[in-house]
Amino acid sequence: MSRLLIEGLPGQSNIEGARFEGARLQPCRKASQSEGALAPEGSSFVSGHDFSRAEGAPNREGALAPEGAEGASRRARSTAEGAIRRAPSTRVPHICPPLADVGEHEPHPAREDDPKLKEHCGVVAIHGHPDASRQAYLALYALQHRGQESAGIATADGTHLSNIKGMGLVSEIFTDEVLARLKGDMAIGHTRYSTTGDSALLNAQPIRVESTKGLIAIAHNGNLVNLGNLRIHLERKGAFFQTTSDSEIIVQLIAHSQATTLVDAIADSLRQVDGAFSIVMMTRDRVFAARDPHGFRPLSMGRIANPSGPDTIVFASETCAFDLLRAKYERDVLPGELVMVSADGVTSRQYAQPNQTSCIFEHVYFARPDSMIYGRWVQESREQMGRQLARESHAPADLVVPVPDSGVTAAIGYAAESGVPFRFGLIRNHYVGRTFIEPEQRVRDFGVKLKLNPVRNLLEGRRIILIDDSIIRGTTSRKIVRMVRQAGAKEVHLRISCPPTISPCFYGVDTPRKSELIAANNTVEEIRQFIEADSLAYLSLDGLQKACDGGEGNHYCVACYTGDYPTQWVDVEDILPAKDTALV
Ligand code: SF4
Repeated sequence: MSRLLIEGLPGQSNIEGARFEGARLQPCRKASQSEGALAPEGSSFVSGHDFSRAEGAPNREGALAPEGAEGASRRARSTAEGAIRRAPSTRVPHICPPLADVGEHEPHPAREDDPKLKEHCGVVAIHGHPDASRQAYLALYALQHRGQESAGIATADGTHLSNIKGMGLVSEIFTDEVLARLKGDMAIGHTRYSTTGDSALLNAQPIRVESTKGLIAIAHNGNLVNLGNLRIHLERKGAFFQTTSDSEIIVQLIAHSQATTLVDAIADSLRQVDGAFSIVMMTRDRVFAARDPHGFRPLSMGRIANPSGPDTIVFASETCAFDLLRAKYERDVLPGELVMVSADGVTSRQYAQPNQTSCIFEHVYFARPDSMIYGRWVQESREQMGRQLARESHAPADLVVPVPDSGVTAAIGYAAESGVPFRFGLIRNHYVGRTFIEPEQRVRDFGVKLKLNPVRNLLEGRRIILIDDSIIRGTTSRKIVRMVRQAGAKEVHLRISCPPTISPCFYGVDTPRKSELIAANNTVEEIRQFIEADSLAYLSLDGLQKACDGGEGNHYCVACYTGDYPTQWVDVEDILPAKDTALV
């Protein structure tokens, strides 16, 4: 059974319904406070739970991160004391030994498991549906690829605002019984990638906060980059943080805003934060959706027509969530736009000047190919990436083979452009659980072998073009190249459908430090030698931008390929070129 954190269910005390298996949370000292009662001016707290006596919990003196709050560690590193204005002249020591130092049988010094980059979150919101919690559940189910560690749904019925969140997959947390407890015709939902541990549940979303502006639930996709200053500023004004989540900063800013209406307070708070945020928010009777002025993360609006009353309005990180709800895509929430949905309909305001730099990596890897992102189908972008890759760096070969699943669409494009036949020469096992227990005697390259298996009769004696979407640390790519070669391939030519990843992301994507990114510290030829391919080529930056534009006129963030960040606040230690220092 998933661990659940339950807040604000009507007809029971907040603590009674909660199951805290192994969590270090304490009973609520404010449980008797009636729902809807305003907190003292200038303060806010997580309704239903008081974490102030929990081990490692925040306190008024220092607002410490809960013990083991690894999920926030990257953010803290990039946004608190370490976050300073960009200082290109500064240099830091080189941490990663050159590849020449790596022995034949040793993994690269970076982590051996070398996972793909992880998106942090997916968000949804529903307004005006009698079974809003189930609609949110279906939408989150479709967005499960954006985060598999925790999920939550908050609902409101005009009077109550309830919230249930837990660790695990959406389908594990939200059984029929749990969904039935979430009443109301409005809902917001969140699915999150984070590190494991008790603190992850504390930071799971939506966050439900009682504030001077009333009860608010908030869910957020992205990463704020000026948190350190804002947090200190708010704490000086008496704010008491319950989580290490970015989203709580936004709610604290709303609570401390001098604006007299909630919508003005939200706009006021969003103007003060910098970085990436696609946000959904809910009060007892309204739903809000907003994107940061750069529009880093996607957020779309859809509509379910209702012939006998007002339409249901839905928001989701990706349009694939609309299909399960039979909602029709209407438009994107624009960069710098705040949309409000109430019984009076949909209203919108541009709270800040748009300056679009949307994340191009959504098109490369994160988003599902059946989604439309920034007004463009992801499937179309990926196919164009493959075609462009073939135009730029084709090698004579017998078969084009994708690294499944994310390399498939680009491989289809590559095969179509080059005329080389496409075959599934690697098969992915889709049933590898997150909790697979490895045998005591760990088999070499076990993780990759568990997920992928070669189709020997296709690969044997053939020259293979292998298509993947990225190389992060290089260790997984090397295992895959070896696997294809051991299956009998005569030649293995690796083609990557984006440019080399040379810089970490600060906008909601969990990237390793610069020192761990193989392309930040090595030439393409050095990487080729490391991964043991016969040839290696990446898609050019120009080619990627062309593939993702298609005349839509989008402006993209490409900072992980250039190191040129669209916002000013970055962690200097992470962005500096490690190799420069090693060579001096
Ligand atoms: S740095 Fe890369 S992953 Fe991060 S927002 Fe920019 S393009 Fe996306």
